This record gives sequence, C-alpha cells and structure tokens, in this order.
Amino acid sequence: MTKDNQQNNEIENQDIVEADRLHGLLANVGFRYEDCLDITPITKEINQLKDEYGRVILAHHYMTPDITFGIADFAEDALGLIEQARRSKSNSIIMCTVLSLAECVKIACPEKTVFCPNKQAGCSVADSITASDVRALKKKYPNAPAVAYITTTAEVKAESDYIVTSANVNEVINALPDQQILFYPDYSMSTSLNAEFANKDIIGWDGTCVVHDNYTAEQVVQFKKQHPDTHVLFHSEVSPELYPHGELHGGTKAMLNYVDDHPEVDSFFMVTECGLSDRLRATHPDKKFIGTCSLCPFMKMISLENTLECLKNTDKKYEVTFSSDILNRASVAYQRTEKLLA
Ligand code: SF4
Repeated sequence: MTKDNQQNNEIENQDIVEADRLHGLLANVGFRYEDCLDITPITKEINQLKDEYGRVILAHHYMTPDITFGIADFAEDALGLIEQARRSKSNSIIMCTVLSLAECVKIACPEKTVFCPNKQAGCSVADSITASDVRALKKKYPNAPAVAYITTTAEVKAESDYIVTSANVNEVINALPDQQILFYPDYSMSTSLNAEFANKDIIGWDGTCVVHDNYTAEQVVQFKKQHPDTHVLFHSEVSPELYPHGELHGGTKAMLNYVDDHPEVDSFFMVTECGLSDRLRATHPDKKFIGTCSLCPFMKMISLENTLECLKNTDKKYEVTFSSDILNRASVAYQRTEKLLA
C-alpha cells in the first residue's frame, strides 16, 4: 500500500469513527447515517481546532442538534451558560447563541474574550426596548428598581439595576423588598409575575417573543382533548392565559427538571422552541415529545459553518465588544443581582 493510500485510509477510518459518534447522538432526532457522514468533516475540524486553540464552545438549548451534540462542550439554558463560562479554565469562549446572551456572558465574565459566530443574530424581545426607553421608565417610576431580562441589549442592561433569566426571575422579584418593580421587556413574563406576586406591582413592557407568542389557548385545548395523558409544559414567555391548560409553566431548566422528575409520564408537549424537544428526544429516547414546536429564526442564524469561521478568525467581526462604560455599568447590575441572591 502506498503512503498516500495509507493516509487516505486513516482519514476514512477517522471519518467513520466521527460519523458513528454523531449517529449515536443524533439518530433519535432524525439524522440518518448519511447526514452524519455529511457533517463529519466540519464537526471534526471544529472539535480539533477548539482543542488546539484552547477554546470552549457553549450552546443554548435552542441551537440545532448538530451544534448541541456535535461540537458544544456544554449545552445549557442562559443561566447555565453563564455559569459554565465562569467555571471554564479557558479565557476564550464561543457562544452559539443570539447576541444578547453572548453579551451577557461578557458582562458576567468581563475578563474573558467572548465570540458570537453571527452577531446579526438578534431577538424580537431584545429589539423591543432601547436604553432611552429604560431611562424614560425610570424617570416615570423613580423609586422602582429596574429589572432587565437577559434578552436585552448591553446598553439596556447598563441602564438597569438587576439582570435576570427565566431561571432566577422569580427569586429576584421575591428577594426585592420594593412593592413596585420595573420588569422588561417580555410582556407575558411581566403579566405572569403580576399574577404570581399579588403583593407587588410589576410595571412591564410590550416586548414579545416570536417563538412563544405563536401558541394559542385553542391549539392547546384541542391538543389536550386528543392527548389527555400528555403533560403540557409552558415556557414562561408563553402567554399566561394558556397556563391553566398545562401541568407547568417556568423557565427552560424547570421544564427539563419536570421531565426528569416525572418518570411515570410517557409523553410531553414542550410549548417552546423546537431545540428543547430535540434535545430531550436525544437524551430521553424512552419518552415521546409531541405537539408542534416553534423555531427561533434568530437562534437558527448560528450554524456549524459560521462557528467554524468564528473559530478560525479571532477578529472583531466575531468578538463581542462594547464600550468600557457600558461594560462596567452592566457588570455592576449583574453583580448586584448575584449579591441579592447570595
Ligand atoms: S426564542 Fe424568543 S426570546 Fe429567545 S432568542 Fe428567540 S425571539 Fe428571543
């Protein structure tokens, strides 16, 4: 056998090992073996380069399964991603998320270099409010603490007193001694918080999530009639009007925990972004995840291809940066939130 033939055989063998690995992880979410072979060259290159450069890839649950299972070091909800970034020994973090989540990791870990494979990946909730809107709100309600949801721009976070995710928003609202609180920009979440905290006056905003705003009570009622044994779990960005028709409403982490905590239930309808059901199909092959899901067009702007480009190029096109004034003020709000919950 010539040296060239031997090298080609080695590459083919490595490709088969990688395709086998991918198929073992992705078969339950509809990837055929041929699909895994197709993405093998790119997942192999990404995994080799990230190790060589000492970088960590963090992916939100709403990414596609080829990212969460194929290349991510960790796939988590927003709060989990921040915790992983902090814990990581690497100072170079690639965030497979929309820009606002990548920015929040930079705010929580200002000493690290953070990259986003597509900085055009926005968010309908984040786009609904500006820093000047927050200044106007604070002027109108000068004594109310200003609580920003994680899907806001860095400028909005810099104007805020606290920064929360769906995993800790209830804890933060509960810990604040104030009766009147500003919470923005997700309208469904502020409505739900007002219902849950009867002793508080939560002043909200009218931001809506294009994913979670897609669902209607009629759809869910119809679904429940056809699948009475399926447990329906709503993300807290879904309108609270729908909550009485399901078993749980909460953040992504709470939805995942519910599945783990209910081994007696065979099927679930995860009323949220499709990525979460895909993840659960892969990790819980004994359960059924049914019902329609909704794709986030912004999260899906991150791909294997632009993640590879981001890995290869450490230039400003991918690095998450903002002025030191914005970074300092937003970091103070983040630290204040942590202190409140400590
Ligand atoms: S799912 Fe909704 S809140 Fe999350 S990034 Fe997409 S549009 Fe924004």
